Amino acid sequence: MLILEGRAVAAKVLAEVKTGAAALMDSTGVRPALAVILVGDDPASQVYVRNKKRAAEEVGIAARDYLYPQGCTRAELLATIRGINADPSVHGILLQLPLPRGMDEDEAIAAIAPEKDADGLHPESLGKLLCGKPSMVPCTPAGCLEILDHYGIALEGAEAVVVGRSRLVGKPLAQLLLARNATVTMCHTRTRDLGAHCRRADVLCVAAGRPRFVTGDMVKEGVVVIDVGVNRLDTGKLAGDVDFASVSPRARAITPVPGGVGPMTIAMLMRNTLLAAQRQLRA
Ligand code: NAP
Repeated sequence: MLILEGRAVAAKVLAEVKTGAAALMDSTGVRPALAVILVGDDPASQVYVRNKKRAAEEVGIAARDYLYPQGCTRAELLATIRGINADPSVHGILLQLPLPRGMDEDEAIAAIAPEKDADGLHPESLGKLLCGKPSMVPCTPAGCLEILDHYGIALEGAEAVVVGRSRLVGKPLAQLLLARNATVTMCHTRTRDLGAHCRRADVLCVAAGRPRFVTGDMVKEGVVVIDVGVNRLDTGKLAGDVDFASVSPRARAITPVPGGVGPMTIAMLMRNTLLAAQRQLRA
């Protein structure tokens, strides 16, 4: 059984981004910049934002903070986003989700200029993905594909099963797999007999937010498993959506949690930011 080491793949991507950012700086004199917007004081979001900023600094991307720990009004958030849209020295925007309850995420995401949509969640970015002409691909699904490609996992004609249909992960991931000619099944809470679908999978991607709920009896021998889930247990430990102990002995390859998809998400955010800067500077 092969462990799909997302951390190592992420390091490779980050090294490429670092080279690209330095080349951009050489040719244009401009350092790529990412605006980081965080509303509220959610501890998990604070950790994510800190990690993303650290990664940016390490690869030569400037991170600009727009932090509202006490919250802000809808008008303030939209004005902040519009201000960054109009600022040519910032190339990418990260709006950390979830926004505090009561704030309209759809409206805020739609306010981001599509060319600065480093998270790839703007309706225009998702529409282009659906049209087969991706411009900015959402970071977590892009990271899943990067892992599969790095390890040479064949997708053409493969039975790919995606558990979860969020805008953030499941739906765009299914599109990426479809674009690679996998036969894709999407599962969700109304799926009848989830186990029967999962057991058909050559490639099983799970993004449901349910700790360890995919168990060994739900997978076939030789499956490749991408576990997107990140769940904090009562013990304080992190667990994926897949029960690693019972699934890994049956799997051909599997991502660990932590150290699998998580680091890839940050690496792909950096890649998207560099891409946005390259396009805006036409470098
Ligand atoms: P989400 O918005 O809550 O969506 C969860 C999806 O899973 C929904 O479509 C839901 O179905 C489905 N689902 C939930 N329970 C299920 C069950 N028992 N059987 C079948 N389907 C079920 O979550 P998300 O944002 O996609 O995130 C999913 C997981 O990935 C979370 O653990 C999150 O922390 C993690 N995540 C990790 C990263 C990373 O960088 N590693 C990034 C993003 C998310 P319905 O649509 O029917 O409700």
